[in-house]
Amino acid sequence: MKHASRTTLALAICAALPLAGAALAEDTIPLQSVNKAGEVIDAAIAAYGGEDAIEGLKSVARQSEFTTWATNQSRRPGPPWDEGTQATLQAIDLENTVYTSRQSGVGGGFEFDGQQLVRGEEGWNVDYRAGTVTDNPNADFATASGPFIRVTAPLLVRQLMDRRQTSHWLGEADVDGRPHDIITLVMETGPGLSLYFDQETHLLTRSERVLPPFGQVDYRFSDYSTIDGIPFAGSFELFVNDEPNLAIDYTMTEVNQSIDRFATLPADFETVEGVAQPTEVAVNELHEGIFHVGANGTYAMFVEMDDHLVAVGATAGIADRIEALREAGVDKPVHHAVLTHHHNDHLVGVRDYEAEGATLWTVADNEAVTRDNAEDGEALKLSFVDDRVVFESGEQRLEIIDVGPTPHVEHLLVAWLPEQGVLFEADHFVNPPNGRIPPANSNTKTLAEALKRENIDVQTIVGAHSPRVASKADLETSLASEPALAVTGL
Ligand SMILES: [Zn+2]
Repeated sequence: MKHASRTTLALAICAALPLAGAALAEDTIPLQSVNKAGEVIDAAIAAYGGEDAIEGLKSVARQSEFTTWATNQSRRPGPPWDEGTQATLQAIDLENTVYTSRQSGVGGGFEFDGQQLVRGEEGWNVDYRAGTVTDNPNADFATASGPFIRVTAPLLVRQLMDRRQTSHWLGEADVDGRPHDIITLVMETGPGLSLYFDQETHLLTRSERVLPPFGQVDYRFSDYSTIDGIPFAGSFELFVNDEPNLAIDYTMTEVNQSIDRFATLPADFETVEGVAQPTEVAVNELHEGIFHVGANGTYAMFVEMDDHLVAVGATAGIADRIEALREAGVDKPVHHAVLTHHHNDHLVGVRDYEAEGATLWTVADNEAVTRDNAEDGEALKLSFVDDRVVFESGEQRLEIIDVGPTPHVEHLLVAWLPEQGVLFEADHFVNPPNGRIPPANSNTKTLAEALKRENIDVQTIVGAHSPRVASKADLETSLASEPALAVTGL
């Protein structure tokens, strides 16, 4: 993939600087930059069908096929990343502030078919597999529609038209050998964008946003064709730090037609109450010396031994969870910390355990990615689980078992306390805070088979992403229920 050269961009900005020295008060760099952005915006409006066409843009509906790459979320710890596919329908009604998107597909061992619908400040989420409609109390048109606007060039041009006074010209750069102007756009919500307009066609070909500390996301727009006098890109790609993350091919685009047939809720689905994830870290003692601790959708389990703790799970906020445990009177050092799998959201806590001086436990295949996630990877205390490892002290027995491979990962470590019948797992059993258990996905089915194989008669399941304590019956319900609508993929 070719990229705008950083050097070219830097030179363009430097070249503008000597003008500043001679500038009059009314001709400052910010003023020049806003004026120049205005010229780029005017040329873009003309290229996108003219002011009347852009102002007259009342609704857009697009159907597309997505290819996704599971960066740091694949079955193996390195590239090539696994591909997933999904079909998407997005529709926006700008006049009535209605937005809907429906996404169905497969990836990472999950099958999904969901819809979000927002009308102004009212909103609903539909799960077509579970057959449920959930109220969304946080619905907001600008926030919900932002991702669609960011990938739809005429809607970005309309934003530029409405917010032109906030836009600045950043400089010039070559993209694929063609000179471009770069201007900024700050939308009502979401990150600031840098938009690249081709100096000849005045069409948007690229947009960038910077996401510290992760790096840079860039969007490429190509294969333009004109629909009702307005050019729309037929293909769209997203790169994260230069690695492909998403490619979209549009199969249908409708302009200024009613979106009512997309913006509806299924009438025959059960309405279930939405339950938000708790935001305060809570310590839940499941049995004597067994603690499930977390908030905000990330949880870890801590098991008390005679003079230390064994931790399981390394999602976000581990330091806070250890702190909460100490405040609750469980003040022992964490000697061992078990990583469930290598996905990046499950390695966030490596540094916190490292700071505790704990030995981290993973499988040999994950050594490199684990060390990469540490402060001092070389010095990190690391031990490997080959099939299983048992931690014991006094009455407490904790087994760590590799139940992989699964559709989600090659190696999945679960924690099993045979005396109490407690299992801790990550990403394989969907256990929503509202207790409404959806039909089992491929990951859940594989986990259930592994439990049977290992003679694990689970009584209680807790997970890395939910505060809810699930029962054996919940797992059975999940396995026994059929999806309301089967997801077949593309
Ligand atoms: Zn995962």
